[in-house]
Amino acid sequence: MKDTSKHQGLRKQLAMVLAKKGIKDNNVLYAIKKIPRHLFIDSSFTDHAYQDKAFPIAAEQTISQPYTVAFQTQILQVKNGDKILEIGTGSGYQTAVLLELGAEVYTIERQHELFKKTSLFLPKIGYMPKKFIFGDGYKGFKEKAPFDKIIVTAGAPFLPKALLAQLKIGGRLLIPIGSKTQIMTLFVRKTAKEFEKHELGDFSFVPMLKKKI
Ligand code: SAH
Repeated sequence: MKDTSKHQGLRKQLAMVLAKKGIKDNNVLYAIKKIPRHLFIDSSFTDHAYQDKAFPIAAEQTISQPYTVAFQTQILQVKNGDKILEIGTGSGYQTAVLLELGAEVYTIERQHELFKKTSLFLPKIGYMPKKFIFGDGYKGFKEKAPFDKIIVTAGAPFLPKALLAQLKIGGRLLIPIGSKTQIMTLFVRKTAKEFEKHELGDFSFVPMLKKKI
């Protein structure tokens, strides 16, 4: 598990590409420059790690495109100490970005293979969420609710009501909603009963599925 100056150089370039595409949050760009994304990808494909593209990982899933990770993180407005629930651990790359920004992260994955793989891998490279959860993200994580932020990294066919209920007042839920393609949708909880909704453009995610496997 090596990280060389060549990799670091490629990451700097990637951060510049993301800045040009509209990522302004310097903390997010710093995290992109710091995290060795090539280690999240099968070693025979490390050349692909620093292109702004999604890429296949285990269990027919993908590591999200760097722009998407940066965009979602920027919209979340992560603050040091925020308690964040992430749905869709996958490779753990988005998790690492949130941890780099000082958040306390609870992350849920429904695929046992990925859950196992990533819960071993992330701590090995120094990223330790509060908890890796093997479970169904549609239910959220009631035990530790409410959360400052909730981020969904799979395409949800509809808005899971449990997630809205687990948000603090003032909290933000960011979720791509739709079947074939998704509209990135932000909900800000104004009061116990009121949510503000913002639609932030089209994206394409692997589907958010029910049931653990
Ligand atoms: N954040 C990840 C993105 C992985 S793709 C990364 O940076 O690599 C989306 C992930 O969501 C997949 O790993 C998929 O297995 C998972 N997923 C799909 N439906 C889910 C559900 N209902 N609950 C939890 N995870 C789910």
